[in-house]
Amino acid sequence: MLSDPVTAIKGIGEKFAEDLATLNIFNVEDLLSYFPYRYDVFEIKPLSELIHDDKVTIEGRVVHEPSLAFYGKKKSRLSFTVEVENIAVKAVMFNRAFAKKQINAGDIITLTGKWDLNRLQITVSKYKLGPAESQAEIQPMYSVKGDISNFKLKKVMQNAIRDYADEIIEFLPDRYLRAYKIPERRKALITMHFPANRIDLKHARRRFTYEEFLLFQLKMQLLRKIKREATVGNAQVFDQEKIKEFIGLFPFPLTKAQEKSLNQILSDMKSPYRMNRLLQGDVGSGKTAVASICLYASITAGKQGALMVPTEILAEQHYQSLTETFGDKANIVLLTGSVKGKKRKEMVSAIENHEVDIVIGTHALIQDDVFFNDLGFVIVDEQHRFGVEQRRTLRDKGLKPDVLFMTATPIPRTLAITAFGDMDVSVIDEMPMGRKEIETYWTKENTFERVLHFIEKQIALGEQAYVICPLIEESDKLDIQNAVDLFDQLQEYYPSDVNIGLMHGRLHADDKENVMKQFAGNEIQILVSTTVVEVGVNVPNATIMVIYDAERFGLSQLHQLRGRVGRGDMQSYCILIADPKSEAGRERMRIMTETSNGFELSEQDLKLRGPGDFFGRKQSGVPEFKVADMIHDYRALETARKDAQEIIETNLLEQDAAFYQLQKKLENDSVLTDKLD
Ligand code: ADP
Ligand code: MG
Repeated sequence: MLSDPVTAIKGIGEKFAEDLATLNIFNVEDLLSYFPYRYDVFEIKPLSELIHDDKVTIEGRVVHEPSLAFYGKKKSRLSFTVEVENIAVKAVMFNRAFAKKQINAGDIITLTGKWDLNRLQITVSKYKLGPAESQAEIQPMYSVKGDISNFKLKKVMQNAIRDYADEIIEFLPDRYLRAYKIPERRKALITMHFPANRIDLKHARRRFTYEEFLLFQLKMQLLRKIKREATVGNAQVFDQEKIKEFIGLFPFPLTKAQEKSLNQILSDMKSPYRMNRLLQGDVGSGKTAVASICLYASITAGKQGALMVPTEILAEQHYQSLTETFGDKANIVLLTGSVKGKKRKEMVSAIENHEVDIVIGTHALIQDDVFFNDLGFVIVDEQHRFGVEQRRTLRDKGLKPDVLFMTATPIPRTLAITAFGDMDVSVIDEMPMGRKEIETYWTKENTFERVLHFIEKQIALGEQAYVICPLIEESDKLDIQNAVDLFDQLQEYYPSDVNIGLMHGRLHADDKENVMKQFAGNEIQILVSTTVVEVGVNVPNATIMVIYDAERFGLSQLHQLRGRVGRGDMQSYCILIADPKSEAGRERMRIMTETSNGFELSEQDLKLRGPGDFFGRKQSGVPEFKVADMIHDYRALETARKDAQEIIETNLLEQDAAFYQLQKKLENDSVLTDKLD
């Protein structure tokens, strides 16, 4: 059986089994699913097509006995001449004296190694007596460690396939194999280990790519279905007329994308299922406007709403703008860590009595002593800072509100549909009309004077600037511009009527707030800061964003920082000061100057960095696929997603006999039970 321990395979003893266990291979099935991580292709080409310094394979006849020379300590050099296409080619082989006996004049031999075009010489890394088996030999390369060699692994793989291949069964319904012209499982699996040619290999990989994506999507969507059904009972009945009226009070019409997202959210809130939705949109795309309409909708349904943000500064900004938007339509309070004592007690009791409609704050607002009377709707701003723990807190209090996560970090579609497969996603991918595009420039440090001069000119027009640098303390290891130094430098450079502020993570919360307030009120014209201003700060009068050592930031972070300007009607500028040493770094700077669309940019970022790095290694449930590649195989991912959706929606797993094996496979994988916390 495929579940037999690997020791059941001929050639695998206890010691080998222990080594295999370090690769997470325990039973026969694990071994068979351990695919090569790459394939070396040895293709015989005419001499005239061989490229200098390339790894090549040639086939020829040995002209005369190899001669062997020893040098240094135990080093040897074996050389001989081979006739290839009537041309004499010299072959050299290092430290393989034993081969002298095997290679004889007149033999046909196949050699692989590095090609020296000038000397017509090959430095052999691999040789085989006799002619090449085919014009292109494909050699599987497994990721191995310890005592396991590629050779040994291939050997036991061969045995495993010989003895167990019959037990490999197909679990994909025939209709998909036919529709996508993909090989059945057993054949594809054998090909993955021992490909006969490139075309077979390509199709085998296509099969496993689809299989991985389909299983993944099915698991995610089943999970979502289970979660939904577990949360029945919070349908909100709101007043459509009042909502329309409320929307009419905005001084602008909603964009198409805002309208679409709004309708998706409202229809979730109306449904009996608990909403679990991500609202994505670039900075300034109008997410907050949509969110406030939803908050209002919830109020007309007689519910309370909450808005949770990562920092107190942000909470305060939201509080100001929402009290303005709502006027006397809602009683809004700001509940942060700095609300203490009697004031806090009063606020908490007002929330409990439903005298309060909307609570805005940091995580403090779901703390132990805060009880809502009837919480219907929660917005979490910047989803990646809100974890499982907070969700649990809400649930432990018996609250089942609809939850909307908002993020201005545009997540590439590719990642969104995998990483957030158990969440619904709305996207605002359109900017309100009349927004001026931020002009972005990339310069080297030697133009800093000019940059400073430019800032001075804009300040004279009444505008403001941010100057961002990566770290706050001098490090002798890294040559990093330091915020404090820069602050001193700027104070020296500018006349005393230009006020400069300093902001970094080590400041006290009070000081931070003070500096931010002064900047928001234009008492400070230039804010020198580390990246603490990254999230959500809104000062429309700031039009210049200078980012020092910009190569130290990722594209998404640069884009976030750039989003701090361009928030008013004035033309804004982003100046990247960077001298990247790597090509990837230069590429990032170029992309920044050319692309202002956050989604486009995030796709590029993903390509440059790969999915693991995109979210940061530890975070997120970005899945690891064995064969599939989320970026490269994007189309297959889409296809698998659609198929999974159809399978779940029409309940094919239970109703169609053709899906029986697939159903069993999913049950065996039992991922569903693990994931429900
Ligand atoms: P986000 O939360 O996505 O950063 P906001 O909702 O704060 O964006 O909107 C940014 C600015 O654009 C605000 O000043 C807001 O009043 C304005 N705004 C929002 N939606 C529109 C629209 N449809 N047309 C014009 N301006 C809009
Ligand atoms: Mg609902």
